[in-house]
Amino acid sequence: MRIGIYGGTFNPPHLGHLTSARLALEALGLDRLIFVPTSVPPHKALPSGSPAAEDRLAMISIAADGLLMGEKVSVDDLELKREGRSYTADTLRVFRDRFPEDELWFLMGSDMFLSLDRWHEPETVCALARLAAFARSDGDDRAVMEAQAARLRSAYGARVELLALPDTVEVSSTRIRENIPAERAYLPPAVYGYILRHGLYDTHADLTALSDEDLRACSLSMVYAKRHAHILGVEQEAVKLARRWGADEELARRAGILHDCTKYLELDEQLQICGKYGIVLDDLEKVSVKLLHSKTGAALARHVYGQCDEIYWAIYWHTTGKPDMSLLEKVIYLADYMEPNRDFPGVEELRKLCYEDLDAALLLGLEMSIEELNERGVPIHNNTRGARDWMLSHRKGS
Ligand code: ATP
Repeated sequence: MRIGIYGGTFNPPHLGHLTSARLALEALGLDRLIFVPTSVPPHKALPSGSPAAEDRLAMISIAADGLLMGEKVSVDDLELKREGRSYTADTLRVFRDRFPEDELWFLMGSDMFLSLDRWHEPETVCALARLAAFARSDGDDRAVMEAQAARLRSAYGARVELLALPDTVEVSSTRIRENIPAERAYLPPAVYGYILRHGLYDTHADLTALSDEDLRACSLSMVYAKRHAHILGVEQEAVKLARRWGADEELARRAGILHDCTKYLELDEQLQICGKYGIVLDDLEKVSVKLLHSKTGAALARHVYGQCDEIYWAIYWHTTGKPDMSLLEKVIYLADYMEPNRDFPGVEELRKLCYEDLDAALLLGLEMSIEELNERGVPIHNNTRGARDWMLSHRKGS
């Protein structure tokens, strides 16, 4: 296996790190890439006011997950757990022990590469891993990089590959830290959302008064990246449906953005949030994360993000539905069901019906949902049956 190790302070991780990681993965044909956030970097002290190690770990984990490469890309916190300074030589010893048969590559940008002879035990670094170095900016001089490669080869027998990555992103964590939020475009939105939620880098945002963009970033930071497309799809579809049927577009947007924000919380965390905000649960809800996430998502929308009652209830009922749904509740339920990323037999018919007859679409959606749950042998919540019966009688009466 070819394993790349990408160390850094990641304070915060930015598109320069991610673009170079993605391109290096391809250029070197890596089977795995491991980001290693450093605790106390030997070559530079962390600036005062830097986030705690756990926040840097969380940010690089969010960024790595955003590459959407599954287990191929991971984060290892071995340096954060180690006492004292983080020496790459020590880290590479651990990886060499862990992967005795594999080819290790240590990845680094030009600034690190050009200073490598001044690192602790450069000979060990060069012996334990191959080095892959790349430019951080278009201005980096190739001849200087080549001269350094030659020096390292002759001094330490280094095995060096200079990668000419097709894209460079000229940015540093320092620049971002000093100019948040102006430089936020260089951050994956989910990383920026994490920064806002935790008030890092003196952002101190009022979470109850966020713009749509910042609210979206916060929501994306709370879930795995594989769910991002769905959340964005629900937002987009909810706004379109609201426009079509005369619901409030902004409320639809915000409910769409937040509807799944607690999707990946564990059962005990979900129950804790319900307890905290006085949400009464029935027996089925108490054991089902799938049913709980709509309740807890609603709770955080109201209590953390300051959203209004209409949004609260639209999120609250988005999984089960219920009798007597409001227009916004119907919009969010259906947007969640048939947003553009959904793909199941009958979805096209449902999509079409959503724009012709909203109640007929709701009835169809509820029936499809009941049928699908029955097929999978999953217990059906009373409110879903109740919603279906309400829609049936409502339509008969009309
Ligand atoms: P700071 O500004 O705090 O010094 P940084 O932006 O240099 O941070 P680090 O986390 O210290 O980021 O860097 C980790 C690794 O990522 C280093 O090997 C560095 O060369 C590389 N790197 C940083 N920024 C870029 C970039 N824009 N393009 C390519 N590689 C980069």
